[in-house]
Amino acid sequence: MSKAIVSSLYDSEVFRMACRQFDQAADAINLPDTIRDRTKYPRRCLAVALSVRRRDGSVTVFEGYRVQHNLSTGPSKGGIRFHQDVTLGEVAALAMWMSWKCSLVGLPYGGAKGGVIVNPNELTPEELEHLSRRYMQEMVNFVGPHTDVPAPDVGTNEKIMGWMMDTYSNHVGHLVPAVVTGKPISLGGSQGRREATGAGVAYLVKKYLADLKVPLSKTTVAIQGFGNVGSETAVALAASGAKIIAISDYTGGIYNPKGIDLKKALTYVQYQKVLRDFDGGEPISNEALLELKCTVLIPAALERQITEQNAGRLKCRLVAEAANGPTTNEADRIIEARGDIELIPDILCNSGGVIVSYFEWLQNLSSFYWDRDEVMTKLHGILDKAKDAVEYQKRKFKFSRRLAALTLGIQRVADAKQSRGLFP
Ligand code: GLU
Repeated sequence: MSKAIVSSLYDSEVFRMACRQFDQAADAINLPDTIRDRTKYPRRCLAVALSVRRRDGSVTVFEGYRVQHNLSTGPSKGGIRFHQDVTLGEVAALAMWMSWKCSLVGLPYGGAKGGVIVNPNELTPEELEHLSRRYMQEMVNFVGPHTDVPAPDVGTNEKIMGWMMDTYSNHVGHLVPAVVTGKPISLGGSQGRREATGAGVAYLVKKYLADLKVPLSKTTVAIQGFGNVGSETAVALAASGAKIIAISDYTGGIYNPKGIDLKKALTYVQYQKVLRDFDGGEPISNEALLELKCTVLIPAALERQITEQNAGRLKCRLVAEAANGPTTNEADRIIEARGDIELIPDILCNSGGVIVSYFEWLQNLSSFYWDRDEVMTKLHGILDKAKDAVEYQKRKFKFSRRLAALTLGIQRVADAKQSRGLFP
């Protein structure tokens, strides 16, 4: 019998939630004790203090993290989050989910995640650049194209990835585009990466709607979160004929049963930064949005939004988890017991982002660039294969769809660890 001796370093509600998901999946596949704990816990982490000179001449110290959960199956991979509520435990949970996600869709990567406690909207563009470069400077010996490859996440974007890649390259003395993905195209970014996560979510939603025999012309969609992922998902689904009836961000939401004018909303957000006071419909709270009657509910913001409080009140046919970890363990149980809602779990649903990150990394390493059609065709091929594998696992073992996805992802990582020995 092996037993982990671990501290409270990562302990938090969201880390416990990821651990419970793992335990449930490990039980379901009878993962041997000898391999369990080392597959479950993060391999290593780095916490850094980032001193940034502010516009008024003062200096602010920001705290940042990078957690590498698993490096047994390749370099670790995962985004960097800039958000005021970031915690080390949250970053560890997100790193864990990256491991299962990369493994599930068959990418040669482990999982990692980074975060900085900051509200990026409160920084000037110069302060944001200094913070981003400072973060990467601290990470120079911890990341690398064959060690750990960061990417965008909540609160970061391609501009920030460009600054980070430049900082790393200046340190090592030559251009290393493959150290970061999600870069601007001019710096080695991939065609299609910016819209990849949303495009992947929309692709899978359409596939599952087809399985449910619901035509897109009769599909209504409510989306919580109007950042990169939420907005790209909205655009892609609307282009296919679905009606987007609600969108929101942290300032609140907009509800319009006739369908939201997305062009207008995107232009509004481009200038106002947030959806607050957008006049394209009735105001609606984030909580009420989740309980709207709609065909597809898409949480595309933060973790732990669908909980035991609201899971029984959802009025959708399909939940598509564009965010990481939006549904708590208790909510999962409620949704399963209800039996009237299909759920596309996060590690499958939002995997389009890291899949195209993988393509970007490949293009950088080979200095051979692909056009958008090639990127999208290959993305769809990988998503189809992953969906089929999840559906097969679900049917074969009578698992929930989340359990099917998790067991596939976890088994592959555990197998690699088993074969390699104790060190990785
Ligand atoms: N942050 C994204 C995710 O959660 C993308 C990660 C990546 O491209 O490496 O999947």
